[in-house]
Amino acid sequence: MQQEGGCYCGKLRYKISERPIFKALCYCRACQHISGGGPQYFMLVPTSGFRWANGEPNTFKRQDKEDAVTRSFCSHCGTHVVTHRPGLDGVIVKIGTLDNPESFDEPKAAIFVEEKQPFHVIPETLPQFKTLPESS
Ligand SMILES: [Zn+2]
Ligand SMILES: [Zn+2]
Repeated sequence: MQQEGGCYCGKLRYKISERPIFKALCYCRACQHISGGGPQYFMLVPTSGFRWANGEPNTFKRQDKEDAVTRSFCSHCGTHVVTHRPGLDGVIVKIGTLDNPESFDEPKAAIFVEEKQPFHVIPETLPQFKTLPESS
């Protein structure tokens, strides 16, 4: 399976050559900040199956949090494209950055639902996890 995507302005591009390991919706506060208020739709792709095809991402990591994730974004348009979580082997790709976001079928879980807002709607078919699946 080959998938491609990139940021809003197109300077940052990536290619995915392997099947995702996991697909889910994240309702954490950080994702709300970044998405504009909703959950973030993402998939975890094996590290070996992800590569940047054009441009160099800028990165951000909070210094005030232990185990902070590293967020990679376009330095031109600011689009947040992928995240790396310490201890997790894989690249967390934001579904909205795919050229074909409609390929995101059958997410497997809703995570960090303890931080969701009253106006969020969680699809009934999804198992819910208070935080990460492995810690619930
Ligand atoms: Zn851009
Ligand atoms: Zn999140």
